[in-house]
Amino acid sequence: VILPAFEYVAPRTLADAVRVLAARGPDAKVLAGGQSLLPLLGLRVVRPTVVVDIGHIDALRYVRAGDAVLHIGALARHRDLERSPLIQATVPILADAARLIGHTHIRNRGTIGGSLAHADPAAEWPAVLLALGATVVVTGPHGERELAIDRLIIGPLTTSLEHHELITEIRVPLPAIGHGWAFHEFSTRSGDFALASAAVIVTTGRSGARETRIVVGGAGPTPSRCPSAESMLDRGNGAAAREAAREIEADDDHLASASYRRRIVEVLVRDALAAASTRAAAAGSEAGA
Ligand SMILES: Cc1cc2nc3c(=O)[nH]c(=O)nc-3n(C[C@H](O)[C@H](O)[C@H](O)COP(=O)(O)OP(=O)(O)OC[C@H]3O[C@@H](n4cnc5c(N)ncnc54)[C@H](O)[C@@H]3O)c2cc1C
Repeated sequence: VILPAFEYVAPRTLADAVRVLAARGPDAKVLAGGQSLLPLLGLRVVRPTVVVDIGHIDALRYVRAGDAVLHIGALARHRDLERSPLIQATVPILADAARLIGHTHIRNRGTIGGSLAHADPAAEWPAVLLALGATVVVTGPHGERELAIDRLIIGPLTTSLEHHELITEIRVPLPAIGHGWAFHEFSTRSGDFALASAAVIVTTGRSGARETRIVVGGAGPTPSRCPSAESMLDRGNGAAAREAAREIEADDDHLASASYRRRIVEVLVRDALAAASTRAAAAGSEAGA
């Protein structure tokens, strides 16, 4: 692929990257893992005059536990997160979702910050992070702001980022020990973008009250939580899954009809609810043993 001509800069610090972005305005484009941007450059869908490669800012590639929160640097690669022992021990749904992104060579290069900024409706990170109630730290010339996933991703391939802002960190509230989780998706071939996905988190509070969060990704323009389905869980997983399939927005496109997507969502949500409940129950019985 022959890329169009552009100026290339590779700042080594976050401060330098922010300075370049502020100075060069909307004609600058950030490059992280390049797994979405390079194809877009090749197709001339985007024509920046300058590409700001943040991939050398090593300080943005980390995973660490804080006080009840997991901090993930924007340049952490999908593969880092898939293999992180800290993630497997504390928020295993993140590792499960990472494993489903594309193929190994894409996961070796692609970053979590790049995936969120790209905002592909079928991407795994937005759906799973929405289910976990994660927030995103965005840094610009005037400092930092922190916003929820559904404030960042506002449409297909559309975010609320300003051109001079960078995603710098993702903050994931640590789910309670003994929580149940499941991330299920359906794609036509292994490694393809999913036609739909379902993320379920089941937590039990100190009082014994159960909270179940259901998020559907891939089916519509953005991932969405399913409050109506969550409120129907007392009628069983099947009824809640049918309600999730009804309440989401489902796209009708060359990949699948809206009704087919709804049918997939129903099956994914039903199975994910069962798997997450089984894990939560197993953790409960271990705690009681
Ligand atoms: C064949 C193939 C299959 C794929 N399958 C999947 C899949 O199944 N699921 C999935 O989720 N993804 C998939 N991807 C996309 C992949 O996950 C990308 O890694 C990801 O979407 C973008 O991450 P990146 O680091 O490569 O970002 P880049 O491609 O470098 O950048 C993507 C966009 O984000 C912006 N950007 C990057 N980092 C930042 C930042 N920190 N702050 C602000 N803006 C930023 C860039 O300017 C650009 O607009 C696939 C890609 C390919 C080529």
